[in-house]
Amino acid sequence: MTIKELQSWVERDWQRSPQQPDMQLQLIYLFEELGEMAEAIRKRDGSKARKTDATDLEGEMADVLISITTIANHFDIDLTEAVSRCQKKIEDRHEQGY
Ligand SMILES: [Mg+2]
Repeated sequence: MTIKELQSWVERDWQRSPQQPDMQLQLIYLFEELGEMAEAIRKRDGSKARKTDATDLEGEMADVLISITTIANHFDIDLTEAVSRCQKKIEDRHEQGY
């Protein structure tokens, strides 16, 4: 799935919802999902007592990505273009030796 396909899927999925995403709530969800991802990493690397498997971390990362995509869609941000611009900025930085 490309980033563009992900954005289209998330948009279609929200169209099926009776309500549109509220951005303040989405921001809270994003932080909630980031917390779940952090917990999955801690469990995976052993810094938290209960171990977990790779699928937990993958699932939490997917939740974070979908949450970010929802916010990007709300603000009509093309994430493919945004990532390309960011990629260029990083590559320019590497070429300049930081
Ligand atoms: Mg989650």
